[in-house]
Amino acid sequence: NVRAMDIKDHIRHVPDFPKPGILFYDISTLLAHAGAWRETVRQLADTIAPTHPDILVGIESRGFLVAAPLALALGCGFVMVRKHGKLPGPTVPYTYDLEYGSDTIEIQTDAIRPGQRVVVLDDLLATGGTLNAAIDLCRKVGGEVVAAACIIELNFLGGRQRIDVPVHSIVSYD
Ligand code: IMP
Repeated sequence: NVRAMDIKDHIRHVPDFPKPGILFYDISTLLAHAGAWRETVRQLADTIAPTHPDILVGIESRGFLVAAPLALALGCGFVMVRKHGKLPGPTVPYTYDLEYGSDTIEIQTDAIRPGQRVVVLDDLLATGGTLNAAIDLCRKVGGEVVAAACIIELNFLGGRQRIDVPVHSIVSYD
């Protein structure tokens, strides 16, 4: 039985990935451990359930792994926010700045019905740019974003200050 405190033990730290000087928090080891992953999903479900979402939005690609099991557990629909060019049909794009260059993510125009309650999910919150972009997309297609959540939060980057809905995380690093 994996308790709250033990989830951190299953997150691997990879130095110098994807670039020299970056410490990468890797959830592969968490996903690979059935008990630790079950406990992670259970804690996220307990956190999110009180917000009464209709739709859980996952951000490509590790956000899918977080949002999909939660949507099943909570009886919500699951919607994808993807990198540019991956979703068929009419989409709404959002371009945001990265350290070097920019990135564009998209949502399908009809993915969310007006007024549906939405929680946006990703694996990790760093600067908050990605989550902020995904929240904006959900609003553009009519969703009411009631919360955001992730497994890992990097407190020292202050990402939650950029997010204008309540943000929940399971583990954090200072
Ligand atoms: P942000 O936009 O700066 O908050 O970066 C968050 C996005 O980058 C998320 O989609 C994460 O999956 C990814 N990311 C940034 N740093 C890490 C890391 O250390 N481990 C895993 N994903 C990361």
